[in-house]
Amino acid sequence: MGMDFDTIAAISTPPGEGGIGIVRISGDEAIEIADKLYSMGKKSLADQDTHTIHYGKVVNPKTGDIVDEVMVSVMRAPKTYTREDVVEINSHGGILVVNKVLQVVLNNGARLAEPGEFTKRAFLNGRIDLSQAEAVMDMIRAKTDRAMHVAVDQLDGQMARLIRDLRQKILDTLAQVEVNIDYPEYDDVEEMTSQLLEDKAREVKADIQKLLETAQQGKILREGLATAIIGRPNVGKSSLLNTLLRQDKAIVTDVAGTTRDVIEEYVNVKGVPLKLIDTAGIRETDDEVEKIGVDRSRQAIQQADLILLVFNQSEKLTAEDEALIEATEGQNRIILLNKTDLDQQLNVDKLSQLIANDPIVSTSMMTQAGMDELQDKIAELFFSGQTGERDATYVSNTRHIALLEEAEDALSEVLNGIALDMPVDLVQIDMRRAWDLLGEITGDSVQDELITKLFSQFCLGK
Ligand code: GDP
Ligand code: ZN
Repeated sequence: MGMDFDTIAAISTPPGEGGIGIVRISGDEAIEIADKLYSMGKKSLADQDTHTIHYGKVVNPKTGDIVDEVMVSVMRAPKTYTREDVVEINSHGGILVVNKVLQVVLNNGARLAEPGEFTKRAFLNGRIDLSQAEAVMDMIRAKTDRAMHVAVDQLDGQMARLIRDLRQKILDTLAQVEVNIDYPEYDDVEEMTSQLLEDKAREVKADIQKLLETAQQGKILREGLATAIIGRPNVGKSSLLNTLLRQDKAIVTDVAGTTRDVIEEYVNVKGVPLKLIDTAGIRETDDEVEKIGVDRSRQAIQQADLILLVFNQSEKLTAEDEALIEATEGQNRIILLNKTDLDQQLNVDKLSQLIANDPIVSTSMMTQAGMDELQDKIAELFFSGQTGERDATYVSNTRHIALLEEAEDALSEVLNGIALDMPVDLVQIDMRRAWDLLGEITGDSVQDELITKLFSQFCLGK
């Protein structure tokens, strides 16, 4: 089935994780190769039904040594990940043994797969389109459930469907333009054709813009919403950070940045991945807070997509509080009135005047009061009313965004051309370019080089 490829193999489970490891073999000779090393009495894998799993041993045919006890799945083309015959050897002996199994497989006729080669075959054999392949890549890196869902939606081909619809619209238009050009004897044909091009260019451009509007959110879903916790010393910034981290222990990860001392903490708030950026209040002891100073906070403020501005409501508003309000003006802010377990001293009316419309949440890091509301507010702010829905298609891939923008430009050129009364056969060149650019997203018009580059970014074994 599929195209004519050699048989490849790789370990398809992540290194060092879990007690079992899987060696995946794909290609015409997958079953034949597996049979050479599979041993379970007289049972041959070639005689087994598709999509069945078998207990047995992997034996090195040269030495007769038993490598491991295994479960072997046999999956025949075309209903497999690659659309080729696939055999998966599940071994439970840890990474060393899995490597030995792979070695025996390679010694018996398979070639070691390049990174991403299984997925590349799925693409080349027509099982998935390019945006789905990229979604697989995103999925491997997805940081939260919601990011995972975006990736999964793309995998469903939702993005590809939308793009194909747009391309179809353009193609229909171009076809109509061709027809019109072929019948120039009708008087108003030239005008009609321009009008058609203009309408369709506008329509498709608007659709592209809608897709691009979701791009920013998509990017954040992949990379995390850069969030700065800002406030004067002792208002409770570190306590807030710790509370957020504690409530989401499971996915907190330390990612070493470009320099050794830059640390990013990820925390999942109702499906929004926050990337807590290293600022005053994060990762420093309290006596260091003062030393960090305003400059450092300003830098953090500028980098932030979201600012959690913390006040101590058990004290009066200070000049430093007001300076921080000013410094964060115009950015996405949520105001925290912290220490509500203590008596109120802060004049909330006065504060409200200074901060206009930003949401205010009363919290206590002592009692955890307000934490739920805070998390709701964060999610609300981010999804602006879309919290909980996941049927929106987020464009989250940088390459997709760039291509959509280029296609949008090409359509603007169409509109310019028409406004300048340029001849239709010139204008339609830009229309055709938009069609090509959109096709690059789904891989319907894509160069070999790009494919190779893309798939080489995958993890080994995918
Ligand atoms: P930061 O300097 O802004 O990071 O403030 P910290 O989080 O280090 O908190 C300063 C002090 O205030 C610590 O002793 C915390 O235990 C205390 N604190 C923080 N939040 C609250 C709160 O909601 N209520 C009370 N009563 N104390 C708090
Ligand atoms: Zn602190």
